[in-house]
Amino acid sequence: MFDTLSDRLTSVLKNLRGKGRLSDADIDATAREIRVALLEADVALPVVRSFIAGVKDRAKGAEVSQALNPAQQVIKIVNEELVSVLGGEGRRLEYAKNPPTVVMLAGLQGSGKTTLAGKLARWFAGQGHTPMLAACDLQRPNAVTQLQVVGERSEVPVFAPEPGSGVGDPIDVARRSIDEAKRNHQDVVIIDTAGRLGVDEELMQQAADIRDAVTPDETLFVVDAMIGQDAVSTAEAFRDGVGFSGVVLTKLDGDARGGAALSVRHVTGQPIMFASNGEKLEDFDVFHPDRMASRILGMGDVLTLIEQAEQAFDADQAEQAAQKIGTGEMTLEDFLEQMQAVRKMGPLQNLIGMLPGANQMKDQLSEFDDAHLDRVQAIIRGMTPTERADPKIINASRRQRIAAGSGVKISDINDLVTRFFEARKMMQQMAGQFGGGGGGGTRK
Ligand code: GDP
Repeated sequence: MFDTLSDRLTSVLKNLRGKGRLSDADIDATAREIRVALLEADVALPVVRSFIAGVKDRAKGAEVSQALNPAQQVIKIVNEELVSVLGGEGRRLEYAKNPPTVVMLAGLQGSGKTTLAGKLARWFAGQGHTPMLAACDLQRPNAVTQLQVVGERSEVPVFAPEPGSGVGDPIDVARRSIDEAKRNHQDVVIIDTAGRLGVDEELMQQAADIRDAVTPDETLFVVDAMIGQDAVSTAEAFRDGVGFSGVVLTKLDGDARGGAALSVRHVTGQPIMFASNGEKLEDFDVFHPDRMASRILGMGDVLTLIEQAEQAFDADQAEQAAQKIGTGEMTLEDFLEQMQAVRKMGPLQNLIGMLPGANQMKDQLSEFDDAHLDRVQAIIRGMTPTERADPKIINASRRQRIAAGSGVKISDINDLVTRFFEARKMMQQMAGQFGGGGGGGTRK
């Protein structure tokens, strides 16, 4: 997502570098190029207009004439305008004073509501809440079963009409789900509603009726970021038909142009609260306008990376690993553990995408994929504990056995073992050089 826009904006802004002073003509030319880049990314016209007006105004104003480096000032302005279009400071979710907090999901069929329900539930649980899912999509065959599967995966209970009780009334199910949550001390109820293929009066009315029956604390409009320009009209229809307090963008992992993401906030006035970027439960995050803006401008998203790393690594484990590296005791078993921790942070390509400059190095980085890591993990798993602890003992016959067991070539194993020894030596040298903790050194 955003690759083309990001490439375009980066190159427009790069052209400004090295210019001593920017004339009004320079600024107009830059603004024109940014405008084309935004329109090509499917950003809605009113949003483009206001964005460009903001950039031009500020760039031509006092800010630039007093600046030491005008090009940097423009980059800063573009970044700030992007942050503002994406929602500025963002907003936190509202919780009910008297639990349960009711979160209702609304959106077109296929926008990713049911998938999101599971992700949200897991997120709430991670925040120390006790969420419950309510299956109020009784329209689509299998929607209830799908939600039950999602609930199982995210280890969250699901309230659904009893099997064999007929189709059931979604409004009644919604109402009863709240009672059930109160009885079981579940403090958040996430209500999955029926989607519609297009904007359909009857289903819109149903969503409004559910809303009236349960008065949600938050109604989240779920929108597929890949639907392009249609996102705006859909958002308007839901705003008028049901009303919502926040937006969730899904499928940000797709390769569409991303205009929806940049338009929806401005057009509806409601903040983007969460973003979903894949089909798996962990492909989900709170939406941060500033981080998204810097990602679009190719500045990387180091903050998200750090946050995810903190969640994936346990401090004690990291400390132990550091010690082992220093003393050269690191084994393949440790290596496997570290790799698993990194992979908890999500698909490798997503992580790489967050690194500054990754966009410019796309081609070189594309070979580092999850398939490669799968292979390395399979090889290590195919080893006995003794082999993992002391890879030196892996002789030709052991290599043959491991290759057969993990379905790789013998040369893959040779590669892995050689690289492991090289890396271990290098890390030990580095740890030696920088003094592996304790004593010595001058600390301020
Ligand atoms: P619903 O009809 O709104 O409940 O939508 P679903 O949750 O059933 O999602 C529709 C399809 O989109 C499913 O195949 C999901 O796996 C897929 N999906 C949902 N969210 C994402 C996402 O963030 N990225 C990708 N690539 N696919 C998604």
